[in-house]
Amino acid sequence: MKTEEIISRLEELNRTSQELDMSEKDRLTLLESVSNYSNDFINNLSRSPAFSSKPVTGLEITTQKKPIEDLLDLYRKQVAENGINAASGKHLGYIPGGGVFSAALADFIAAVTNPFASVYYASPGAATIENEVVNWLRKLFSFPENSTGCLSSGGSISTLIAFTAARDRHKIKNELIRKSVIYLSEQVHHSTQKALRIIGLEDIIIRYVDLDANHRMLPQSLQKLISADLAAGLNPFMVVATAGTTDTGAIDPLDEIAETAENHKMWFHVDAAYGGFFIMTSKKEKFRGIERADSMITDPHKGLFIPYGVGAVVIKDGAAALHSHYYTANYMQDGANEEMLKSPANVSPELTKHFRGLRVWLPLQLHGTAPFAACLEEKLLLLAYFRKKLSALGFCLGPEPDLSVSYFWYPFESHSDAKNRRLMEEIHADGSVFLSSSIINDRFVIRIAILAFRTKKETIDEAVEMIIKCLAKVRATN
Ligand SMILES: *Cc1c(COP(=O)(O)O)cnc(C)c1O
Repeated sequence: MKTEEIISRLEELNRTSQELDMSEKDRLTLLESVSNYSNDFINNLSRSPAFSSKPVTGLEITTQKKPIEDLLDLYRKQVAENGINAASGKHLGYIPGGGVFSAALADFIAAVTNPFASVYYASPGAATIENEVVNWLRKLFSFPENSTGCLSSGGSISTLIAFTAARDRHKIKNELIRKSVIYLSEQVHHSTQKALRIIGLEDIIIRYVDLDANHRMLPQSLQKLISADLAAGLNPFMVVATAGTTDTGAIDPLDEIAETAENHKMWFHVDAAYGGFFIMTSKKEKFRGIERADSMITDPHKGLFIPYGVGAVVIKDGAAALHSHYYTANYMQDGANEEMLKSPANVSPELTKHFRGLRVWLPLQLHGTAPFAACLEEKLLLLAYFRKKLSALGFCLGPEPDLSVSYFWYPFESHSDAKNRRLMEEIHADGSVFLSSSIINDRFVIRIAILAFRTKKETIDEAVEMIIKCLAKVRATN
């Protein structure tokens, strides 16, 4: 191609590609549409159902351009108004969270400026913001100053990072895998077993520790299992405790488990994905011992109400975390001299990634921590309020939880499981408030998980009204 040809072709391509770098006027118009849409969505939340379900259509990508108003309308119908409305305070199933608005704006800024947050050299400020969030967590959970960690996409990836460091620190490979033992509770989140499989520990021996009536691990049972395994020539390697079980809201006795783990030089991991931030509430004492863990995870997209897509892991032994995750390459040489732990990429499987530190850092700076703590304290009280209401209606309740997840069932005279299942179906068909179910001690139960920042007393009153209505329906068709 001649130079003139290249230039003329470039001019032609620019006319089409220029669309991506919008003018200020077009940016403002687009922002206004998105802002209007967001405001409508939030303003209507309390009137919108928490759950509905319909087939999804019209989302395929074609070569056609479409106006933003059409796209927002499509989004509203196919995404926002379909499935569980997870931004709603009426989402009381699984583990809710919410999506605080200031975090959404932080995402906006992060995306507009697009810093390369995983390498300190590339963006010292962005890397430091991520590290400061980890630092804040380290202090919140009283981990020592030289602990490390990073922000991940969520609890599952955080678990993966922590377990990999544990595996490598204890050199669990080859023949040792089949002789090594990990101790869990039946109430552990399934991401635990999934992580073991992903990191090549599928053949490790898993022991389930007995639980007390409140679904907490019994330290004596743990000790007994370890002793028997040692006597059999096995290698007790790791114990996983949970601070806030997903199904039952229980906190394992962390301090006693830490003691046992230390005595046997095992890796102690605490899964605080759901429950961690309740350490900011009157429940703080129940977390005693978490600071003795070798690693812990917690999910800002649960207990800090940040939109989905941010988890955190804190690891005491920085060298172990680095050993598993540090790697270098020729094209990274300009950044190689920076202190390694300053770069999030060195303790994570991720390199290029979303600058997710800002969506936690900005809301904490903007609002201060008090509203977050108050919101969590409120959730604890709302759960107590809900349990009192249900008990007065004749429902059976699970044991008093440590945190804000509980379960219940109605004691129908016959076919109790089947009728509670029908009650669950009626609740889902109603959809005004969303609850989910589980099987606990072989019984079908309905769960309530109060964690969304928009869940208020009125929401719980609405939930109780709905349950009364649905119960009457099940009883009428007896
Ligand atoms: C939600 C949860 C997880 C998994 O976290 P994700 O962010 O969904 O990947 C792990 N453990 C517990 C206790 C949880 O509640």
